[in-house]
Amino acid sequence: MADEMKNSVIVVGAGVVGASIAFELQRRGLQVTLIDKGEPGRGASYGNMASIALDFAAGSGPLTWKKIPGWLLDPEGPVWLRPSYAAKMLPWFLRFLAAGRPSRLREIEDAGMGLSHRALGDFKEMLQAIGAPELLTEEGCLAIYETEAEFAADRAHLALMQRYGLEFDVLSNGAIQYYEPALSPAIARAVLLADNKSVRDPHKLVVKLADAAFEGGAVFVSGTARNIERSGDGTAVVLLEDGRRIEAGSVVLAAGVHTRFLAAKLGEPIPLETERGYHTQIMKPGISMRYSVIWPHRAFMVTPTAGGIRVGGNVELAGLHAAPDFRRPRVLVRHAQRALPGLKVEEASEWMGHRPALPDTIPIISPSSKMPGVFYATGHGHLGLTYSATTARLIADMVIGAKPAVDMSPFRIDRY
Ligand SMILES: Cc1cc2nc3c(=O)[nH]c(=O)nc-3n(C[C@H](O)[C@H](O)[C@H](O)COP(=O)(O)OP(=O)(O)OC[C@H]3O[C@@H](n4cnc5c(N)ncnc54)[C@H](O)[C@@H]3O)c2cc1C
Repeated sequence: MADEMKNSVIVVGAGVVGASIAFELQRRGLQVTLIDKGEPGRGASYGNMASIALDFAAGSGPLTWKKIPGWLLDPEGPVWLRPSYAAKMLPWFLRFLAAGRPSRLREIEDAGMGLSHRALGDFKEMLQAIGAPELLTEEGCLAIYETEAEFAADRAHLALMQRYGLEFDVLSNGAIQYYEPALSPAIARAVLLADNKSVRDPHKLVVKLADAAFEGGAVFVSGTARNIERSGDGTAVVLLEDGRRIEAGSVVLAAGVHTRFLAAKLGEPIPLETERGYHTQIMKPGISMRYSVIWPHRAFMVTPTAGGIRVGGNVELAGLHAAPDFRRPRVLVRHAQRALPGLKVEEASEWMGHRPALPDTIPIISPSSKMPGVFYATGHGHLGLTYSATTARLIADMVIGAKPAVDMSPFRIDRY
């Protein structure tokens, strides 16, 4: 393979993960081709809740399994399973339960927190490098509890945060409105997570990342990748659905939940499922907010963004093809109005997206176990925005043959 080819890389998928990787590889001197079947940032990365959620990996993953039966039975609860999809979901769900074994849980949390500890620093540095530090808010996030019982139920999570050295402040009822006047006086407790920053516009972030890569010389190819081959001299070839063949020295597969189709073609099936999530973007909310707010008991967030207030989260298990059920986000808006009594819903839009979710809740950031020169960056689940910059660094290290700063063994594809 010629040196020029060796120094080139294809990134499949221009979500926040792929665009961050494309930018990182380009600034490390590689010739990057970014391929997407649509415009950059229109997948899950378009409508997420914008949170750099540093605490989420501490006990919010498989630890939640104990709560799931109750959640599934509650029509207004945070997890919905479409009965028609239940049988298809079963193998994934069994693996999810297995990941909740105490010994495995600890490994998963350690691995996730290893990424979380780096996430904010890497993210800020990436924003500086693309000239967009203003996309990150200064304020943190308030976790709210309507009753003392809800607060008590979240103690295990707070204890884990302490164990992992994450700082937080517990606010009693009297102090909450000083921080966020829009919150109801009925909220019993809040926890201030000062380092859980948020992004003002998650879609704009992806566009800026891709643009920064293009300004540095990366090129964009519009098309759908359907397979990857290696030619005789070791060149990687991405075959597009329309018959085009794009060549490079290495390939990074970062196509969100769709990465599973490409992985299956390479003979390494991965249990990647969609955890569908919804948001309502309210352009005229009638209130202003300083902090993003998470309500752990109901597992959803309210985030002030550049385009108004965004209410969203939750998980719907219904596969890739079922039509959105917009009754889901309306439940969240009703809950949000309880916490933020002045919240009005004028000029609002609704959205549904596919979190790329693995049953052990930690991503695959890994070389292929089948084809040299192919790498995976997928399965970021609830934390793709949070881990984007860190993933980009780790993948770039692997592509250029440098030693990543993190033990990569928990993120290997061949753990499945
Ligand atoms: C409601 C909701 C709230 C969330 N909140 C947060 C949050 O607050 N914080 C956080 O960190 N994370 C959050 N997430 C998760 C986060 O959004 C995802 O983990 C992240 O966006 C995944 O990014 P990605 O680049 O892997 O995938 P995507 O953004 O889905 O991008 C994949 C890209 O690949 C392209 N593609 C797919 N197949 C092909 C193909 N064959 N050929 C070419 N291109 C292809 C798609 O067009 C797409 O552009 C949330 C998700 C949802 C749904």
